[in-house]
Amino acid sequence: MSEAKTIRFRCPVCRKETTRDSEDFPFCSSRCRIIDLGRWASDEYSIPGEPVSPHELEPGDDSY
Ligand SMILES: [Zn+2]
Repeated sequence: MSEAKTIRFRCPVCRKETTRDSEDFPFCSSRCRIIDLGRWASDEYSIPGEPVSPHELEPGDDSY
């Protein structure tokens, strides 16, 4: 009963896959985290309700 499930998330900045183990979760790297911070600061996020396509959340887009 000990499934080591690795749930994958996508970096909100560059859409690269990241995991909860990441130090910079939910970002793939500290770089993206800083980029995201910058976006908030410059109010780029005030785009009203950009819908998230469910297609983007689909797993299996493995780019190993
Ligand atoms: Zn990223």
